[in-house]
Amino acid sequence: MTSVDLTSHIERGLSDLRELVALESVSAQGRMLPETASAVARLLEAEGFSVRQFPGQVAPVLLAEAGSGPFTLLIYNHYDVQPEDPAELWESPPFVLTEREGRLYGRGASDDKGEIASRLAAIRAVKERSGGALPIRVRWLIEGEEEVGSPSLAGFITEHAAELGADGCWWEFGGISPEGQPILSLGLKGVMCIELRCRTSQSDLHSSLGAVMDNPLYRLARAVASLRDEQGNVTIPGFDNDVRPPTQADLDAIARIPGDGQAVRDTFGITRPLATGPEYHQRSNLKPVVNINGWGGGYQGEGSKTVLPGEGFVKLDFRMVPDQQPARILELLRAHLDAQNLQDIEIIELEAAQPAARTDAGHPFVQACIQAAREAHGQEPIVHPSSAASGPMAPFTQALGVPCVAAGIGNHAGRVHAPNENILREHFAGGVAFGVALIEQLGKDRLQ
Ligand SMILES: [Zn+2]
Repeated sequence: MTSVDLTSHIERGLSDLRELVALESVSAQGRMLPETASAVARLLEAEGFSVRQFPGQVAPVLLAEAGSGPFTLLIYNHYDVQPEDPAELWESPPFVLTEREGRLYGRGASDDKGEIASRLAAIRAVKERSGGALPIRVRWLIEGEEEVGSPSLAGFITEHAAELGADGCWWEFGGISPEGQPILSLGLKGVMCIELRCRTSQSDLHSSLGAVMDNPLYRLARAVASLRDEQGNVTIPGFDNDVRPPTQADLDAIARIPGDGQAVRDTFGITRPLATGPEYHQRSNLKPVVNINGWGGGYQGEGSKTVLPGEGFVKLDFRMVPDQQPARILELLRAHLDAQNLQDIEIIELEAAQPAARTDAGHPFVQACIQAAREAHGQEPIVHPSSAASGPMAPFTQALGVPCVAAGIGNHAGRVHAPNENILREHFAGGVAFGVALIEQLGKDRLQ
């Protein structure tokens, strides 16, 4: 790619980004969502996309299409952002794209407007280089509800499956390592957030009654202690039954991921790592887990209070892997609690669960993305078969049957969701080069 001059496209892309960052599209607060959807639609229409807007529960969904050729590429992004709070911690105004020492600061600069702008710049560059036509069909799905859990997305995909069919999907995020290696993720873990609740009396009681009355916090303690062992393995009977084994290509990719989490352990002073060495990335990519997020009930103030609590709760999240199904995990959890005489512990689902998704590292579309990343960034990509994080990828891999690859422009100090969100100018340029390399390659070759 070094022979190709993308300078003017990079500058134009950054000016698009400046325009998008200025729109305060905070989905959690319902700010400027239709305006931002229309601004994105205008940018795409200017590049020859036909764009349709559909109402979502929180914000409009955009579905755009352009070009034709041997490959149909589905691109997924979102135009909404997280709130800028705490605003006083920003070193420049959150909704003004501001450059300092090679970094561009602003809410959405990375997540996800920088991804949209760099991809659009790549499409512009490809068109210019090919005399105006895109060598593939691009279908672009851009929602405005990602930061509030994508409540409309799965239904929208089912409803519009025929218009979303594709040979591969370019996922909304991705990053570059501190050493400059592009990081590709081929999957996301599933997530299910629940609360366990136990009430044993209509009000708190004097703790002298503890000799004759059971205690809801003890019942919850027994319940959560029975969910996993000291090594972090989930101990609910049947929990692992549906886990899809990794392919050899997945295992090979994991073995090539550099490091073993030492930097994270150092940064945060971790005293109880569950895995180091090669096991670190194996577990991070492939291991399902249950976490306690918080615990409530009884007296939590200063000093002591001899109280027998009337009720208590514990909040948990499950991080699942393919092909574990959230509904099945709930059934197994219920049976596990019942078997321990904990029938009175109520299980409450806190929000819609997301199943996991993963594309085989050996898939030809994955190989095309790896090759494009290698060319664009001049370094060997790091491939994660699954990010340890979660997102709404399962509707794409399951309902549409499309292989998904996350590749993008984020950096490890990008402060996504926090004050001073930023990207590196050179990563934005690399993202444009990646898009050009990928689209031109998909337009040329039949994937093997
Ligand atoms: Zn985000």
